[in-house]
Amino acid sequence: MLYLSEDDPDLAKLVSNEENRIETTINLIAAENHSPQSITDVIGSVFNTKTIEGYPGKRFHAGCMYVDKVENFAITRGKTLFEAEYINVQPHSGTSANLAVYFSVLKPGDKILSMSLPHGGHLSHGHRASITSKCFDFSHYKVNLETEMIDYDNVRKIAHFVKPKMIVAGASSYPRLIDYEKMSQIAKEVSAYLLSDMAHLAGLVAAKVIPSPVPYSDFVTFTCYKTMMGGRGGVILCKENFGKKIDKAVFPGCQGTSAVNLIAAKALIFKLAMEEKFISIQKKTIQNAGILARTLREKGYRIISGGTDNHQVLIDLTSKGISGKSAEDCLEIVGIILNRNVVPQDEKNQGKVSGIRLGSGAVSARGMGEPEMQKIIELMDMALMNRKRKEIIIQVKDLVLKLCRAFPVIKIA
Ligand SMILES: *Cc1c(COP(=O)(O)O)cnc(C)c1O
Repeated sequence: MLYLSEDDPDLAKLVSNEENRIETTINLIAAENHSPQSITDVIGSVFNTKTIEGYPGKRFHAGCMYVDKVENFAITRGKTLFEAEYINVQPHSGTSANLAVYFSVLKPGDKILSMSLPHGGHLSHGHRASITSKCFDFSHYKVNLETEMIDYDNVRKIAHFVKPKMIVAGASSYPRLIDYEKMSQIAKEVSAYLLSDMAHLAGLVAAKVIPSPVPYSDFVTFTCYKTMMGGRGGVILCKENFGKKIDKAVFPGCQGTSAVNLIAAKALIFKLAMEEKFISIQKKTIQNAGILARTLREKGYRIISGGTDNHQVLIDLTSKGISGKSAEDCLEIVGIILNRNVVPQDEKNQGKVSGIRLGSGAVSARGMGEPEMQKIIELMDMALMNRKRKEIIIQVKDLVLKLCRAFPVIKIA
């Protein structure tokens, strides 16, 4: 940070403040993770300045001898890691990756069936505020309100009625496994393509601690910054026969130049993901989520769907008489960072957010285990139940700080 503190001391101060915030708070945001220092190093490297258009060996600017190798590393390693026939590592984000998949084989106005956002889906799956819904004609399936899990018979019924050209399997806040085989069966029955969006799950899939959608899907998209721990950016995997269409849809279809530094980070995380350390973090992530859910249940919290199979735990706070926003705010004060989240029952009341979402990725990367998960829930409960009692809030904040100090984050590599 030597050069930054000379060029812009104010900004340098914000970087060190942020480092301090990360060190002194517990990160339970399911859509975040800590990444190895080598990821930060390569993202801040000279690859940041190279302009590329096109693909390795077929670029529109000179000087690509090394960056071609970088992208080929990412391609070869990514295909091996996920056992995929084809890969494109250029998408800027998960949303860009999804857009490129839609435009690769569909025409504007074509029908797509995806999971409804209040039931766990993502903005880029045709939410009315997203450009995706302006380009394509989306219908949505939901979870069963009793089980709070996907009702595949209902998905099948809607698919046969709507006859979509594409079905999207995948969610932002859904704590259960998705039966990709069943989704692919339904897609085949109505001659639809299957896109599986594993944005949240890529790290868990890479480590083989949950089943992979790759064998069952025409297309798979993901982002690298959630359980994958590899910096920002998106990736598309697909069957060989869609490769050319996907490449064209990404560049020049949806994007111009891609970010070589992020492609380098993808190459690096795909290598690290084959190593024992990464795999054990992902195993820990699953175990820790289970412990968070169990401990919360013991304390009387209502867990959406009754439990978790991945890194997420969704809680409905209605019976505790506290809104998602007040819980998020109260917990931020004590240094427990998470996000409020809609629960399926909120759909009836526009704007109501009754839940919070916990993710076990970052705390697992930080080396925390069972005793720490129990402690976190104990502190969380203490804060939420005493949110108007300043002396208790101060006490909890102190205990959170103590816990954080025992598990340093920066340079976890
Ligand atoms: C996080 C997420 C994305 C990615 O979004 P970007 O913010 O564009 O990277 C896409 N799909 C799902 C299901 C997600 O959870």
